[in-house]
Amino acid sequence: MKFHKIADFCDAVIETSSTMVLALDPDGKIIDITPNARDITGYSISEIKGKNWFDIFISHEERKSSYEYFRNMIIRGKTPQYVNRILKKNKNEIFIEWNHKIYQDSADNVIGVLAVGYDVSERIKTESELKKERFELIERNKELTCLYGMAKVVEHPDVTLQEILQSVTALIPPAFQYPEIASAAIHLDRQLYCTAGYEQSKHKLSEKVFVQGKKRGKVKVVYSEEKEKSTDKTISFLKEEHNLLKTIARQLALIIEKREADDKRLELEGQLRHADRLAKVGQLTAGVAHELNEPLGNILGFAQLADKNSDLPEQVYKDIKNIIQSALHAREIIKKLMLFSRQMPSKKKRVNLNTLIEDALSFIEPRFATTEVEFIRELDQSVLEITADPSQLTQVLVNLAINAVQAMPKGGTLTIKTLAENEHVVFTVQDTGIGMDQETIKQIFLPFFTTKDVDQGTGLGLSVVHGIIVAHGGEIDVHSHIGQGTRFEIKFPANSTNKEE
Ligand code: ADP
Ligand code: MG
Repeated sequence: MKFHKIADFCDAVIETSSTMVLALDPDGKIIDITPNARDITGYSISEIKGKNWFDIFISHEERKSSYEYFRNMIIRGKTPQYVNRILKKNKNEIFIEWNHKIYQDSADNVIGVLAVGYDVSERIKTESELKKERFELIERNKELTCLYGMAKVVEHPDVTLQEILQSVTALIPPAFQYPEIASAAIHLDRQLYCTAGYEQSKHKLSEKVFVQGKKRGKVKVVYSEEKEKSTDKTISFLKEEHNLLKTIARQLALIIEKREADDKRLELEGQLRHADRLAKVGQLTAGVAHELNEPLGNILGFAQLADKNSDLPEQVYKDIKNIIQSALHAREIIKKLMLFSRQMPSKKKRVNLNTLIEDALSFIEPRFATTEVEFIRELDQSVLEITADPSQLTQVLVNLAINAVQAMPKGGTLTIKTLAENEHVVFTVQDTGIGMDQETIKQIFLPFFTTKDVDQGTGLGLSVVHGIIVAHGGEIDVHSHIGQGTRFEIKFPANSTNKEE
């Protein structure tokens, strides 16, 4: 029979090659098969010859579809190359690439199929590994894009931490398997930053954010349950994604830590610059005050002399009185300027701050009896004595208290506190008044800076306070917010080594 001859011929040709050739009848029965099939499949030729190919080599699950494919091929007369999975005798899977040729008799009846099969398991394995690697590369690329994006966001010096966190949330979903249904959120210090449409979901991955060992919040990725229904995917997180979120949390912690350190540094620099500026203004002021003090003394002296003269016209007498008044006023201002620029000698001795405050308040409080301001004292009895000029300290308290009362035209509370700290005695004056904005805070210690009407303030109160505090080796800090009030905090060294003067 013609077909048999061809198969025999193939046998001969193929024997030495690693391609097996088999002749199947139109039903899939193995008519003949080259001997090397034994090496590829593990079956001896006698074991399989005469049996149905599909029964032996195709797994139960794929048998029907595979047979149908074969039959279709015969019916249509088309023989595309294809790869399928077959089972070896030991039930291991291998992949075979098939080329077929259909044989017909002279009446065009199909008499058999010649199938040439090449074991491509190695190739398929490599391909699937490549695919896996590609998948991993894509995932890795997403990760890197996300982390790179984070690095980029931080680069800009002008963006605030809040803006950074907001931008980072947007970078997270694309780094995950199903970005279309993912959203992300960052919680930091009870603040929430999130992508649009963020909502709670049972499909979530969360990592805590620790900044310098302290838990500050967390970063979260969620898959929307609602949108999940519209996809045919089963949602889960990969191990790599767990790791990625851990990395993101760590990066966030570093960003936050760096930002906060930078802010702190900027603030310190600002304070230094401010102190420097005040020192320069102080020098200038000291010079001016000194120069004016002498001529002013003369003006006052001569005016007082003239005033003693009894036979002056009434008008001249009045004018002289005005000169004296103005000169005295000018002398007050100069005295304050000198206090600010630390040109005033101070008479320091051991003072108990609490007693001093009580004394000063007993004389200030009645002056403000008509206002709606309530005075509160919280004096820490354990504060140690400090070395200070009592009259200058009184002036500090008076200036701060007047400002506070003026800041509370509708009433409020004025709290005066002392506190013993390790190395310091802390003294705070806090009001519930109008507060100040940052621009104002920057200038309050400058002489003549005032936001008040002419008859309300000269802008020298806090300059004087500042001069006195610095002359006592202390520090003054101000915290204020518009509409929330102001707190002045003064620190004196507790064991002041300043000698009594
Ligand atoms: P003056 O009281 O004469 O204006 P100061 O040197 O005492 O001058 O204060 C300077 C400025 O600081 C004030 O004009 C005011 O704007 C602001 N200020 C000081 N203390 C307070 C306070 N307790 N609350 C709000 N603003 C204050
Ligand atoms: Mg004042």
